[in-house]
Amino acid sequence: MKPIRIIDVVKAVKAIDYSSPNRFAEITRVVFDSREAGIDSLFVPLKGETDGHDYIQSAIKNGATAALWSRPESEAPDDIAIILVDDTLTALQDLAKYYLNEIKPKVVAITGSNGKTTTKDMTAAVLNAKFNVHKTKGNYNNEIGLPFTILEMPEETEILVLEMGMSGPGEISFLSQLATPDVAAITIIGESHLEHLGSRRNIAKAKLEILEGLKADGLFIYPIDEPLIREEMPIDGDYHKRTFGIDHTATVYAYGVQSGKNSTSFKVSLDDREILEIPIIGEYNVQNALVALTIADYFGLSMLEVKAYLEHFELTENRSQWMDGVNGSQILNDAYNASPTSMTAVLEAYAALPREGRKFVLLGDIRELGEKSSELHASLSASVKPEDFDEVYLYGEEIAPLYQALEGSFPADRLHHFKGEKAPLIEALREKITHTDQILIKSSFGTDLLSVVKALKE
Ligand code: ATP
Ligand code: MG
Repeated sequence: MKPIRIIDVVKAVKAIDYSSPNRFAEITRVVFDSREAGIDSLFVPLKGETDGHDYIQSAIKNGATAALWSRPESEAPDDIAIILVDDTLTALQDLAKYYLNEIKPKVVAITGSNGKTTTKDMTAAVLNAKFNVHKTKGNYNNEIGLPFTILEMPEETEILVLEMGMSGPGEISFLSQLATPDVAAITIIGESHLEHLGSRRNIAKAKLEILEGLKADGLFIYPIDEPLIREEMPIDGDYHKRTFGIDHTATVYAYGVQSGKNSTSFKVSLDDREILEIPIIGEYNVQNALVALTIADYFGLSMLEVKAYLEHFELTENRSQWMDGVNGSQILNDAYNASPTSMTAVLEAYAALPREGRKFVLLGDIRELGEKSSELHASLSASVKPEDFDEVYLYGEEIAPLYQALEGSFPADRLHHFKGEKAPLIEALREKITHTDQILIKSSFGTDLLSVVKALKE
């Protein structure tokens, strides 16, 4: 980060008061964790399960230069610059806004029910072909992670690529107004967080809040195949629009998609010569790539320029990743999260892969679906066909309706349902899986099939 003088921090966060041994001191780093504090850092104590204020002494010991403070002034230590504020999180966000305005990069904001992290990583990768890019690390996509990402941005950053996540209405609006993007994209509308939002229409509305901070004359990118976006999009917006999809009516579309075990290739309407490739499976990832390529095109990059960058983009862990499993098998690990949309997308992608040995699937409970949980789990049966998969394992309580739905269509001896303790499931799989077999593992994070992935890993 470009150094900021403490007196500028004081102004940016509209501090109530401050005490500083040296008002011209500068900070070059913002930390939440006192153990990471060091010379020139600003310690931001946040209230979560613990209260960061309790760790101020540790931050001082580690050399922090300054700290935000929202407890009574009388409780503040006097051997560090203290910046007194009403609320440390709001102050962090205000500081991020100030810093963004100091650096003035072009800002790209990505939201959607699925594929945000993947699309963000692809977008940053292709823009790297020509620009200094800074992006959200991992999944730092909320009201804390986003300002933190902004404050980590190096001075020379030309384009900032931000992931924006949410679990309820109002959150994307806030993030978008903080970051005021030049480009805003929605990857897909799914059913994640249905429990909090009630309907897919409400989810679409919540994602569309990304337009609330979009700069006048900015670009909005959205999937062609989602009528809810078209229906709910404000008509008076002063921005440009581009759609993407496999459908040829999209502004930017993909065709000639070829699925391989480790990569997917396709052509894009932006350039009829280049065959592009992503190091990851699934048509759904081609959709994610289309967002990245539309953004690259907007910034003046050609497909030839970005091709090699897309091929080698760095995937965040546990997203549709192959790993070596027990008995010489191969695990397709997608156990990081799940929604009905993403599960359908991944099941279809996995079914489309060329066969090596037998294909197994292990699907676990999808959480946070609210009252539609049974119906949505059962609806997955359309993507679980006996000709595509040899053995189907289901795990958990909420997924039981899928078991019932499959009982009619899927041979009983190849269909298994486990609940409770994971040990018997792991045991059964270890016994059944042999050399050349493949297994797709997917569930919500909370269902913890990652522990099964771990147990089946070589
Ligand atoms: P989170 O809400 O946890 O931040 P995310 O939106 O960032 O998730 P990713 O981490 O990119 O999403 O991908 C998570 C999973 O979602 C992938 O492993 C895959 O199963 C699925 N997925 C990714 N992209 C799409 C897509 N375009 N359509 C449907 N499913 C997708
Ligand atoms: Mg993410």
